[in-house]
Amino acid sequence: MNPVKGFVHSIETLGAVDGPGLRFVLFLQGCPLRCKFCHNPDTWCFDAGNEVTVEEQVKQILRYRTYFRSGGVTISGGEPLRQAEFVLAMIRALHEEHIHVAVDTSGIYCEGVALEAAMEADLVLLDIKSFDRDQAVELTGFSTDHAWQLLEARQKAGKPVWIRHVMVPGITICVDEAACASEETWRAHNTLLIDGLRKLNDYTCIERVDLLPFHKMGEYKYEEAHLPYALTETPEPSEEVVEWAERALAEVFVR
Ligand code: SF4
Repeated sequence: MNPVKGFVHSIETLGAVDGPGLRFVLFLQGCPLRCKFCHNPDTWCFDAGNEVTVEEQVKQILRYRTYFRSGGVTISGGEPLRQAEFVLAMIRALHEEHIHVAVDTSGIYCEGVALEAAMEADLVLLDIKSFDRDQAVELTGFSTDHAWQLLEARQKAGKPVWIRHVMVPGITICVDEAACASEETWRAHNTLLIDGLRKLNDYTCIERVDLLPFHKMGEYKYEEAHLPYALTETPEPSEEVVEWAERALAEVFVR
């Protein structure tokens, strides 16, 4: 039988923001979404990356085991579940080594082997791109229906999820002058976000919600690849706005 192979974009041996504890982060190649805020457009292409077998990849990971003992492995991307068979085989192989595995996904592939892999993970880091369906399509090319389906499936199975949501000024958050007059006016102009965060209370499987401020650190990659970058004129959210959003989250999402 042919060994299961995957296409790897890159690795990070000491990731501190992609799940609990210090983690080995495996970034897989390929993503069908086109999030306007994506800072890794170099992961989009499906016909690229370094081809490895599960055995080779696990062997490499085990060399760093001392460093990520407090955490585990996070399989990210790109959209990792595009390579669902590889992800499932990786999770099973890492579980044999008693390693905690998180999968960071948009949930776009939410059936068959992809769903099986997402359900096998100890933790799913689920990106809710927008709390408005049409806005999500505009922002990424796809609706969030699949993400909510995956959340439902994890909820039914009682398996943990961490939600991630990128705050993009002028799209997922409002930061115009009238909105930013005060914290109160900001909340009044950001009901989509705040109501969306409140809705997450319905899912007891959600352990944590991270609001990620939009940043432009990946803009140079678009220039290098001669790809249009839609958010050149979009400002990064101010510290004050980030604080307001964090405070609103702490109040409406209760764990
Ligand atoms: S899902 Fe992730 S990798 Fe894919 S386009 Fe969106 S941000 Fe980029």
